[in-house]
Amino acid sequence: MIHRQARLLRVLLTWIGCFIISQPLLSQPIEGAAMSKPSAGPNIVLVTVDTLRVDRVSAYGYERSTTPNVDALLNAGARFSQARVPEPLTAPAMGSMLTSLHPHEHGATRNGLRMRPGLDSLPSILASHGYKTAAFVGNWTLKDQISGIGEHFMDYVEVFSRKRWFGLWFGEATAEDLTQEAFEWIENHLETSRRPFLIWIHFVEPHAPYRFHQEFASDLGIRTSGNVSASDRYDTEIAFVDKAIGHFVDRMKTTSRSIDPLIVFAADHGESLGEHGYWGHGRHLFDATLHVPLGLTWHGKVNPQVIDAPASILDISPTLLGLAGVEVALDLQGFDWSGVLQGASEIPNDRITLHQAHKGAVQGRGNTNARRQGLLEVGRIENQKKEILRVKNGQGHWLFDLLKDPEEIESLTGKESKPSAELVTWLELVKQGLAASDELPPPVLDEESLDRLRALGYID
Ligand SMILES: [Zn+2]
Repeated sequence: MIHRQARLLRVLLTWIGCFIISQPLLSQPIEGAAMSKPSAGPNIVLVTVDTLRVDRVSAYGYERSTTPNVDALLNAGARFSQARVPEPLTAPAMGSMLTSLHPHEHGATRNGLRMRPGLDSLPSILASHGYKTAAFVGNWTLKDQISGIGEHFMDYVEVFSRKRWFGLWFGEATAEDLTQEAFEWIENHLETSRRPFLIWIHFVEPHAPYRFHQEFASDLGIRTSGNVSASDRYDTEIAFVDKAIGHFVDRMKTTSRSIDPLIVFAADHGESLGEHGYWGHGRHLFDATLHVPLGLTWHGKVNPQVIDAPASILDISPTLLGLAGVEVALDLQGFDWSGVLQGASEIPNDRITLHQAHKGAVQGRGNTNARRQGLLEVGRIENQKKEILRVKNGQGHWLFDLLKDPEEIESLTGKESKPSAELVTWLELVKQGLAASDELPPPVLDEESLDRLRALGYID
């Protein structure tokens, strides 16, 4: 009897604790999750940083020490030197990471367009295998209302405002606010459950408008007299988010149950800092926005190594499912690296990666054909050769040798060049997917969302 009462009390406290501490905006038990047994899989922390160019990460050779904490993570695990995103835009890329589907397949091809409902994803599959799942997002474009990503997590926590203290609001949330929320969730979870967990944290820094964090200027060698350039401010944003990540990783070592989770680090896309005549991301498939950092750290299970074969954030879900020992009969577009990481299979050096670019965001009440109207470019990388076709207005066809010309200055195409048959086939597949998405409901963005998307530079 005492045992039963204690258990009831524990269940009650768990429920109250979840409600008070994590305050999820969405808390939807995923079908089957409550019925399944706790899995023996690893705790997983998925960390993504918005707008982080690979060449500004010091572990990837940047001369400034922008990312000492991320470097430590990446150097302790497997780091991919040739990782790219299927589309250089936040919600499309993150939808692809979670579902291992290309944007034209999951439906969120532009910010403001929701993913198809009911898709399988890393978090929903892990939940059906006994995992507790939560996401903490700091970019407005990932709001469930406009991205449709929330349904994939048991707790989907949108962190856009600082916590309220003494009746006062202290402005927009920062990386520290996200890690605080995530850490509280982990502590509560560890106190109340023996289930493994998956959490995803998405930081908005260093997204434009590139706030200047003066406290890092000296260490980064940035002169603070006069105007600080956008590029330098961007670097201080990276140092700021890196510090928050380091703090978060350290705190995980001091939890009530010492945890040593499997940690994945990635970016949703890079940033063009003036290259090819533009600032920002989304519009083109050049490497400033396509090439991202990607690493996986799991102490004692994955040896430190650098993998130079082509990789994609589409690979994250199949790889994590592989490492967690979960087999799925799904047509995932990414590659499962778990065999390679555990020394059981060969590195695939001949992979082809496929890419697409779309207009930034829909405006207000979009049309049902907002997806078809947004397609700008398709691209394909094979054997370090990148072919890009500008679809919009039929302008532009480029072929770059990424080994000899990593900045993509000299196209190898002639005046009368025609896209390869393989790229045309890819274009047709993308178009078919976009046309099939006409059946999805048209986007409806409220005024606040429009303002936020405008502030982020997605609406002219
Ligand atoms: Zn982004």
